[in-house]
Amino acid sequence: MSDITGYFDYAAATPLDPKVKKAMDPYHTDFFYNPSAQYAPARSVNAQLKAFRAETASILGAKPTEIVFTSGATEANNLAIYGVMSLHKNANVVISALEHDSVVKPSQNFDTKICPVNSKGIVDPEVVKKLIDEKTVLVSIMLANNEIGTIQPIKKIAEIIKDTRHRRQKSDNKTPIYLHTDVAQATNYLDLHVSRLGADLMTINGGKIYGPKNSGLLFVRTGIVLKSMILGGGQERGIRSGTESLATIAGLVEALKITNKKRDAEKTRLGLLQKQFIDFLEKNITNFTINGSLKNRLPNNLHVTFHGLDNERIMMKLDYLGYCVAVGSACSASSDEPSHVLQALGMSENDIRASIRFSMGRYTTAEDIENLAKAIKTAVRA
Ligand code: PLP
Repeated sequence: MSDITGYFDYAAATPLDPKVKKAMDPYHTDFFYNPSAQYAPARSVNAQLKAFRAETASILGAKPTEIVFTSGATEANNLAIYGVMSLHKNANVVISALEHDSVVKPSQNFDTKICPVNSKGIVDPEVVKKLIDEKTVLVSIMLANNEIGTIQPIKKIAEIIKDTRHRRQKSDNKTPIYLHTDVAQATNYLDLHVSRLGADLMTINGGKIYGPKNSGLLFVRTGIVLKSMILGGGQERGIRSGTESLATIAGLVEALKITNKKRDAEKTRLGLLQKQFIDFLEKNITNFTINGSLKNRLPNNLHVTFHGLDNERIMMKLDYLGYCVAVGSACSASSDEPSHVLQALGMSENDIRASIRFSMGRYTTAEDIENLAKAIKTAVRA
């Protein structure tokens, strides 16, 4: 990483793993061919694309035909919402109050029901169940939130969807119902086997897993028909046209493989750093709150309100000292609107404007946490 003192914004972007870069390089140069071309080198690139798809599928417990490579999580989320909802007239979609804008905004084009969360930032499956009615065809709830890192009970929600589906199959209502989950923030830390999770559609983001930005995929369970959003040459089984970027896909697959191997160890390691960080706050900061459940939370996230202080001031002081932290809504182009996620927790506007997200990652060490702690102590002084 360039000459910064401490990077604490891994939820916004992760640096490319050197092995990922190595996996991508040949496809920029030696193997640049269009995989749809007819001659031998292009056919071999096409074979490689097939192999990447199969590898990705096997990591996720999916079939190769269930993987649609996209330009990232935004496109995958848009495809899930538009793709399903455009094919069902008079239908509705249930989303949680914590969803990323790439789920919220496309949903606004349809009849949307918003599932509230409790003050700890957790969706209650029973509330989801009550919101589902005879016209619901899609439920979209993220596995882990990008701002407060809370983890949602997706498996329980998946059970509710399955029960609803079975009940409908036995009745006159043949309306399908699917569960979409955005796992962009969860991929490094949680089990993403699609059957264990119970997801019908699932979004992955390469840019959050030390892979290339603008890489990602949508898992689409066999049998689900999506309306294509990007029309053209019919790539990705016609669901998403556009010449495949083998380099990007190679990078995404390598990043997935690496994160899959490191998952358990990183979860434990970052969990300890998270605890170290909380211990520091408890010993040194007088008036703070950690937002969101501590129990059901990603190990790399701490979202803290420094009551009575201005988050932008703290952020700028930390920036001056060489620390990168996040204020406001994560992963969106700068906006002055108070975050809808923090509003959903019932936080006051003053508290929202006193809150900072610290997100750790693969290169964060115990020493980094110690140094950040000292910098916070300086930054929160008047
Ligand atoms: N979903 C979640 C949970 C995210 O954190 C992000 C972050 O940016 C996105 C979707 C959108 O990702 P991208 O902008 O890389 O497409």
